[in-house]
Amino acid sequence: MRWLNEKIWRKPKASTTEVDADILTLPFAAEHQCDLLISPEHFLLIRQFHQDVLNQLDMLGTFLQSASVVLLWPTPGYQLRVFASNDRTHQIQVNAFAAGSGLLGVLKERTEFALAPYPASAPALPYYPDAPHPGSFYACRIGSDPTLEKNASSAPLLCVDRPSREPWSKVEIAMIKRTGEQIATSLNLHGELLLADFERKVLQQSFNGLKVLNSSLTLDSVYRAAAAALRMIVAADLIGFGKICGDMVELQHLDGDGSFSTDPQRYPLDDSLIGQAVKYRCILPDGGENKQRTPVINGLPLFDNFSSILAIPLVQDRLPVSGILLIAGRKNGLFSRRCRDLIEMISAQVAIKVELAGSHEQINQLTVTDGLTGIANRRAFERALEVMHQRALRRESAFSLIICDIDLFKKINDTCGHPFGDQVIRQVAAEMKAVVRSGDLAARIGGEEFAVLLEDTDSKGAAEVAERLRDRVEKKQLRHQGVLWPVTISIGVAAFPGDTGDTEKLINYADQALYRAKESGRNRTVVWSDAIRGS
Ligand code: GH3
Ligand code: MG
Ligand code: MG
Repeated sequence: MRWLNEKIWRKPKASTTEVDADILTLPFAAEHQCDLLISPEHFLLIRQFHQDVLNQLDMLGTFLQSASVVLLWPTPGYQLRVFASNDRTHQIQVNAFAAGSGLLGVLKERTEFALAPYPASAPALPYYPDAPHPGSFYACRIGSDPTLEKNASSAPLLCVDRPSREPWSKVEIAMIKRTGEQIATSLNLHGELLLADFERKVLQQSFNGLKVLNSSLTLDSVYRAAAAALRMIVAADLIGFGKICGDMVELQHLDGDGSFSTDPQRYPLDDSLIGQAVKYRCILPDGGENKQRTPVINGLPLFDNFSSILAIPLVQDRLPVSGILLIAGRKNGLFSRRCRDLIEMISAQVAIKVELAGSHEQINQLTVTDGLTGIANRRAFERALEVMHQRALRRESAFSLIICDIDLFKKINDTCGHPFGDQVIRQVAAEMKAVVRSGDLAARIGGEEFAVLLEDTDSKGAAEVAERLRDRVEKKQLRHQGVLWPVTISIGVAAFPGDTGDTEKLINYADQALYRAKESGRNRTVVWSDAIRGS
């Protein structure tokens, strides 16, 4: 078998141009912005397309007995580069040249161009600068896709030349055009596959980013997580977050390469780009390019010199605009249609999270801690209940209240003394801190009574948290004078708005459920239900 292979290898063969990754991505880069995320799988697809084109050119070259077949692809800088070739002359030069230069300029106005014979006085073909003129030449634009047609001087070109000076026959021209169509079809197919894979990856990445965003509770961590999620879909140079305070904006967070400093100063909205985005509640400017050169923030030129910019109002349905997100990049045309759609999707999540984090900070400021346990006291609990209630009303969301009481605590006090009783109270508080998320609030609301406010949680979720707490307390036995003391708690749970829309009733229902837990044997969780009412 070895000699057979060698024979095949030795057979005189047209050379195919060795191309770099840069060229391979050309047909896809402009349309799909895939330069952001070229993964090995993407690259495989792109290579497949390239191989497919080489096969087509090879077949065409063989059929036409031509000197060479070349596919020229436009670069973003209005140049043409050899994307693939079947080169029997071994003289093709792959350097880029100006689109529309020399002979190929004719194709600005025409979709095809034949030269047979090739006149001695005609200029050389741009990719054959040093070779003698061929006998005849034919070139056509490829792609039935209107996006390829929209700028004729930057359309891909399929070029064929050969030593023969004979005119091109109808069959030959039909064959060349057919190859062009097949390449266009293959491009579309690979483009779609690439796009599907690209989108899947982008979505997966931004989904991961959103997961981080969801677990962020302080404003600062929300800004950081949002910037990270956005950077997964767009190569931004600067991302800024501002808070809208009446007719002013307060720039609160900047995420850039470190050379920008956050200035907590307020700037007037007026008719600046962000002022208009807030006023009309829409993403500006159209397409992400500030063609009118509208000042982005009045009085702060920081964002004015970026080629690509988007000002996105952070807003939830009927609520006033609460913030502004600015994404800026030095690169032209940074935001493709799909990229803008994804940004819009992420910014809707960011708007919710910014609002939530703002409320959490409000709650945190209100928190006044209990001296014995270090968790919130009753007053702080009452205020937090009010804030959470207002927020849940606005967002039409749920929250839950857990009230718990240490079982037979008098006996602990009486038998082991108050200091040990205090230790038990501190221990229960520590368990509560361990089970609540940082956005929730655990408080000591009485001597040995505690409460937990759980954000975005219905009674089922609250019952789970309550059971986890009850179980932890039960397992954590404290030693008094060498003897283990069983400490248990009884718990009542009620939820807004599932059980009631009123905060006083909510406390009352949780209390009644707690009473039922005590009554039915202690060391248990009872969730409020209508059956408990008045029983
Ligand atoms: P039950 O299971 O029904 O709740 O029984 P209990 O014994 O726990 O009854 P109750 O809730 O009425 O008892 C509360 C006791 O907690 C009364 C009070 O002396 C004691 N207590 C209140 N505040 C403190 C405190 O700060 N430290 C200590 N050590 N004890 C306290
Ligand atoms: Mg009590
Ligand atoms: Mg008690």
